[in-house]
Amino acid sequence: MFKIFCYQSAADSAISYDGHRGIVFGTVVAAQQQTKQTREAIMSEYQGSCFCGTVKFQVSGAPEAMGYCHCDSCRRWSAGPVNAFSLWPIKNLQVLSGADQVGEYHLTEQSYRKWCKHCGGHVFTDHPAWDLVDVYVANLPGLTFEPALHVHYQESVLPIRDGLPKMKDMPAEMGGSGETLPE
Ligand SMILES: [Zn+2]
Ligand SMILES: [Zn+2]
Repeated sequence: MFKIFCYQSAADSAISYDGHRGIVFGTVVAAQQQTKQTREAIMSEYQGSCFCGTVKFQVSGAPEAMGYCHCDSCRRWSAGPVNAFSLWPIKNLQVLSGADQVGEYHLTEQSYRKWCKHCGGHVFTDHPAWDLVDVYVANLPGLTFEPALHVHYQESVLPIRDGLPKMKDMPAEMGGSGETLPE
């Protein structure tokens, strides 16, 4: 099953159904599932690390989803205008070194954000309710980033005209409106 979501904002939002959900997203799901199957056939492993290299980790298999999040929580936490995410089953993530140097903070129960205590570099965010972990694409140099969509685009401060679907908040499958916005 395809899963996609983002962090705190969607849970805090009450959004009405607009009648368009599922159409654009369904196409995205089909395309990404096909890509995922291709990747799974290869059974890849990807290594990553924090900014200083103390925390090293590995993810295996294929991500459940990849894209960009524009939400206020991601932007403030990362101090960046947009966050590129890749979502994996938590069991597919293995910390290879520096596990005792991984700091953790959660503003809500949805997102356990983690970083290296030595350098402050962000590494990943657990989403326990969905059994997924967001490993920041910036920290996975070997991963071919194939973004499928943008989420929380209504909060964007950096419009990106790349032709990908712009979800107003989140896909309906993850409790959002499923509504898309123009670029
Ligand atoms: Zn570090
Ligand atoms: Zn976000």
